[in-house]
Amino acid sequence: MTDNKNTWLAKTKRTFTAVLPVSKRRKGECVNCGACCKLPNVCPFMKLSPDGKVFCSIYPIRPLNCRKYPRTESEFITQETCGYRFE
Ligand code: SF4
Repeated sequence: MTDNKNTWLAKTKRTFTAVLPVSKRRKGECVNCGACCKLPNVCPFMKLSPDGKVFCSIYPIRPLNCRKYPRTESEFITQETCGYRFE
């Protein structure tokens, strides 16, 4: 994970730009690793199921920046575990 992008400023930017479209270069799918639920701190709505899987307790109404992450390659900082990639 790129720590210099894991800041509140970066999250604020993701929040405001989340109204923009997702890059067409993004491929793959979310594998529920939970890494983006910890940017820059652990989200209070992130929960663990009994089998250890990560899930969102407000999934149907989760914010746009969560729905679209990673929207662009430049905001993508969870490559180590994320199921998405940019081609
Ligand atoms: S980092 Fe990627 S795979 Fe992990 S929860 Fe977020 S979108 Fe899903």
